[in-house]
Amino acid sequence: MRGVVWFRRDLRLADQPALTAACEECDEIIPLFVFDEPLLQSRAFGDACVNFMLGCLDDLAERLASLGVPLRWRRGDPAVEVPSAVLEWKADAVYWNRDYEPAAIFRDRTVEVELMQRGVQVRSFKDHVIFEADEVQSATGGPLQRYGAYRARWWTKWQAAKPAILPVPKTLSSRGAQCPVSCPVIPSPDILGYDRVPVRIEPGERNAVKRLRRFVKGPLHRYAAGRNRPAIDGSSMLSPHFRFGTLSARTAVRAALDSLTGSGPVSRADVVTWIDELIWREFFQQVLAAFPHVAEGPFRETSAPPARQPGQERDRLYRAWCEGRTGYPIVDAGMRQLNETGWMHNRVRMITASFMIKDLRLDWRSGERYFMRQLIDADVAANNGNWQWCASTGTDAMRGYRIFNPALQSKKFDSDGVYIRTYVPELDRVSSAHIHEPHLMTLEAQRRAGCRIGYDYPAPIVDHGQARREYLDLAKRRVAQ
Ligand SMILES: Cc1cc2nc3c(=O)[nH]c(=O)nc-3n(C[C@H](O)[C@H](O)[C@H](O)COP(=O)(O)OP(=O)(O)OC[C@H]3O[C@@H](n4cnc5c(N)ncnc54)[C@H](O)[C@@H]3O)c2cc1C
Repeated sequence: MRGVVWFRRDLRLADQPALTAACEECDEIIPLFVFDEPLLQSRAFGDACVNFMLGCLDDLAERLASLGVPLRWRRGDPAVEVPSAVLEWKADAVYWNRDYEPAAIFRDRTVEVELMQRGVQVRSFKDHVIFEADEVQSATGGPLQRYGAYRARWWTKWQAAKPAILPVPKTLSSRGAQCPVSCPVIPSPDILGYDRVPVRIEPGERNAVKRLRRFVKGPLHRYAAGRNRPAIDGSSMLSPHFRFGTLSARTAVRAALDSLTGSGPVSRADVVTWIDELIWREFFQQVLAAFPHVAEGPFRETSAPPARQPGQERDRLYRAWCEGRTGYPIVDAGMRQLNETGWMHNRVRMITASFMIKDLRLDWRSGERYFMRQLIDADVAANNGNWQWCASTGTDAMRGYRIFNPALQSKKFDSDGVYIRTYVPELDRVSSAHIHEPHLMTLEAQRRAGCRIGYDYPAPIVDHGQARREYLDLAKRRVAQ
């Protein structure tokens, strides 16, 4: 039997259910990747994300080639390309791991119908999450809308299931198909219409494993305290690897829990706090699977004030936010980190999103789109879920009246301004006392710091106190209507 393994967001060999099943059931396998032309054309993702994906594909192609099972790729609409490749290669079955994004579900159904009509078997597997939406449910059997309840059931399920981790299939090197199919090298970003940019997080399965090991030996030991401080190496930076499946969530959870059995100093609280973040990831995946309308708009209508009307003022504020020129150093540092590196620290993602929605009163959906285009880990479920959390429109959302104070957040989590100075160099010489609110410097202090407010660094584009009052007044009026 000849099987095609269609790689998508699972660009690895270890703990890869579709690949393992194909190696068990087929005599010959053909690994395939399809560059989704309509998606590439839509530019929903940006250079950082596409460059990272190509790096992962290079690594995968190299490893498969060394085992004598080269990766084939095509470019076009996957709903057309997959059936056409499968028929051309006279394959009997196609194997893939499931994807829960509404557009991917539609695509997969189309491919499945087409293939089954032609007598080709389709086998799909759970991989991207540890538990799918129907495995962690409420007592009455529906999807859970609150993270707390989801988390509790997730942990119960984990204790009962203890999911196994699959090794790289031993038979893989003997499964190379003999069919005369050419396998050109993975294209460069410019061939796909994207710019080549430095990839700050090393792509590929081997780098994912290295990063996981490093994290488990080091930052995991102080994760509960360190994860909120953007200036330090406090979190795993594995998000792009989870996004493209160069590391399975099962492997990550297992490695974190195993670290507790060694003689090292890791505490259960740190390990559980980190796994809880991976549960947020699963929570948002199941929200998207159960309520696909969230990809298009709010989960629920809330009393949140309407966004600012289109016009010059809105455009001015939006541009300043995107470019990191708001006059709020922690917001500007975050946006510049995002623009320069394709990544932003989680705490700062929350601060910048809250500022955009509640201080600037801009539509959260334009922020969501901007993040998708900039982030190396751009992921519909996690991005949408978090933006809806910040906008207080999600299933489990930040309370509507809670508005982050950027200066207080900054003082708490970047007290010496190390993170701010890294990304906002014009504030480099500003004292730690003024770094969070440089507009409060006297003219003499500005002169000493070599930073004139309004010239070298912008004055705040809105007054936080006033913006907060206006937001809450508008929300109250909305409730009274
Ligand atoms: C407005 C906003 C937009 C976001 N957009 C994305 C996105 O497009 N893609 C993305 O992967 N994450 C997104 N996040 C979640 C989070 O910021 C990143 O997952 C995290 O910063 C990645 O860093 P890390 O790998 O060091 O995380 P760690 O702290 O090491 O956490 C481990 C893993 O858990 C998952 N995770 C952590 N926090 C969250 C969270 N709040 N929600 C969902 N999963 C989480 C990630 O897969 C992460 O790699 C967003 C958060 C906010 C507030």
